[in-house]
Amino acid sequence: MSAVQTADSLIASHVAGTLPLPAHVLVAAHLQLNNDNRAFAGELERLGGLGLSQARPVALSDRDRRLASVLDGPAPAAPSHPQEARDGLFPPVLRDFVGFDVADVPWRTKMPGFREHDVGEIDGCHVSLFWIRPGRAIPAHTHGGLELTLVLDGAFNDVNGRYARGDISIADETVEHRPVAEKDRPCIGLAVTDAPLRLSGPLGRRLIDIVGG
Ligand code: ZN
Repeated sequence: MSAVQTADSLIASHVAGTLPLPAHVLVAAHLQLNNDNRAFAGELERLGGLGLSQARPVALSDRDRRLASVLDGPAPAAPSHPQEARDGLFPPVLRDFVGFDVADVPWRTKMPGFREHDVGEIDGCHVSLFWIRPGRAIPAHTHGGLELTLVLDGAFNDVNGRYARGDISIADETVEHRPVAEKDRPCIGLAVTDAPLRLSGPLGRRLIDIVGG
């Protein structure tokens, strides 16, 4: 992954199968939460099926095969209110990937008001789930590479806008941001990065944000 990508180009890469596995899962989870983009991806798949898949037969590893079976599984019934469609919070593709839903995440507190579950280093990416206390800021940082964030519950705001359930935030070396969870509920999400983050901004504010003041 490199360079700035838009959500649409991410979906196109997802359909073409060129994303690292965790980014693939993140986009698939986004699509399961977002009916409009699911239609868009379906259209891309239809177009891409004519050329791409025929031109590039790829031997599936066991891992890829497992993912393919996840992705090809029965499509969730198109819900008019995705949030109410099932008991759990996680889209099925994410639940299958990490092995549990939100109630069973083994959170670890990294900073006051900020919990994380380190899913691991997968396919060259660092994968984690995060929980941010309502109203809390994540310390300002820039990025050594690409950072994809899928919001699963609640919402956060940063310099680029507002991200709520089902939205993907895309940040890279050119983006410095300080995401702040909205006040009404915790913000829970999935983050995939291909390089470590770098804290930025004035030291004083950094320290305040680490403590969560
Ligand atoms: Zn970031």
